Amino acid sequence: MLVLRFLNVVAPAYFLCISLVTFALQLFLFIPSMLQDPSGATPLFSSALLHGVLFLFLSANALGNYILVIQNSPEDLGKSVDLARGADWLDGSHSSLDSAVPGTHFCRLCARVTQRHDHHCFFTGNCIGNRNMRNFIMFCLYTSLACLDSLVTGVAYISAVLSTSFANPLAFLTLLPRSISQFFSGALLGSEMFVILMLYLWLGIGLACAGFCCHQVLLIVRGQTRYQVRKGMAAQARPWKKNLEEVFGKRWLLGLLIPVLNVGSDYHRQK
Ligand SMILES: [Zn+2]
Repeated sequence: MLVLRFLNVVAPAYFLCISLVTFALQLFLFIPSMLQDPSGATPLFSSALLHGVLFLFLSANALGNYILVIQNSPEDLGKSVDLARGADWLDGSHSSLDSAVPGTHFCRLCARVTQRHDHHCFFTGNCIGNRNMRNFIMFCLYTSLACLDSLVTGVAYISAVLSTSFANPLAFLTLLPRSISQFFSGALLGSEMFVILMLYLWLGIGLACAGFCCHQVLLIVRGQTRYQVRKGMAAQARPWKKNLEEVFGKRWLLGLLIPVLNVGSDYHRQK
């Protein structure tokens, strides 16, 4: 439990640190390096400006949805149920209550019972349920896109600064061992080594978030939550369109472009 509580504090701090570093590298290193590019394009449509706008759009969506996930915690099913389940958890007999109220779950970290519980996300330090599920998926999607965008611009920056070509598919794989040996022999600056390490981190986070996002959408189409899968519960027999509408609501297209509250979903109408 102590480890989980520790993780609940460390993971959001880790996320915020990576975001700050990414922001700083993009704004003070990658975009200024693009401005020096003598491509001859008009300043209005220069690659630096277009890329700056794209990066701001991606990161505003990622951070906006991150805040909305935290703000829209799944509703607490009442203190009495909460306490009863809390006591049951301590007794170790929580499984009886889990079957009594299907889809609900008592999260020990958030100390509340959530309806249609999916999982506890350590990066947001919050439970993911029906209310913030769409914002959570958008957060994963835009974090993944912002990481992959940073990866592409980082690779462009490194290939320009170190005059290396990434035309060979193996060049990216051999970049890390080569640069580590160059760094220790003094041929590579500390800042360049840092950017190269960040490239691998962006690749890892980008792929992990994309995979997580795809898996989550697949579960929603099936009408299942991660919690139900873990517990081996059967999925609701419903058309997939209905399942999607329940999570994404009527304003799904608006929610895809800007971080907005999930108003208009089936869940909110029931409320
Ligand atoms: Zn939780």
